[in-house]
Amino acid sequence: MTPERYAKILRVLSKRQPTLTVLMDQVNKPHNLSAIVRTCDAVAVLTAHAVPPGNGKPLEFEGNTFEATSGSAHKWVRVQTHTDTLETVRELQGQGVQVLATHLSQRSVDYREADYTRPTCVLLGAEKWGVADAAADAADGNIIIPMFGMVQSLNVSVAAATILFEAQRQRLAAGLYDTPQLSPEELARLAFEWGYP
Ligand code: SAM
Repeated sequence: MTPERYAKILRVLSKRQPTLTVLMDQVNKPHNLSAIVRTCDAVAVLTAHAVPPGNGKPLEFEGNTFEATSGSAHKWVRVQTHTDTLETVRELQGQGVQVLATHLSQRSVDYREADYTRPTCVLLGAEKWGVADAAADAADGNIIIPMFGMVQSLNVSVAAATILFEAQRQRLAAGLYDTPQLSPEELARLAFEWGYP
């Protein structure tokens, strides 16, 4: 590895946000999954979560199908898979993470009203069905991107990007990209992993 490459890896890892994540619930189109993970990389998400459709089937990314079982790594954004959405919501909440479901309900608020400087997971729903009511009810909040057109919803990867860049905006303002959020040990471990895959 060249020194330039190592410096770039350190630069990127020093901005990674272990307290910002998404949970993709049954998002089944490879190009949507790939686009969401690419946005996660851009806003410096460290680990994304997914409940793949079809019980136990490997996640399919555009042009690249691979087994993304729990603990295995995407190249720059780890994608951790789970089997049950509600259980995963509760698990994340147990770790002190607020789960914000992208879901229209009585308690939905404009996505810009949420505080993304807190440890946050954005729950994204399946293209056909959206977020299940049970998971949306269990979430700490329901958020929506206001829409004024004829069509009722956005493509899931567009919605993810819109919300994640608001999270990035808030975190930039709060200085969360100014100092490493990873411990020195974790940063060194990941630098080695990324540099020598
Ligand atoms: N028929 C589905 C429904 O009723 O929810 C539409 C799902 S939409 C195509 C797929 C996902 O994109 C949603 O579950 C949500 O995660 C996200 N999404 C789409 N439009 C959104 C919006 N205006 N606000 C927040 N999330 C949105």
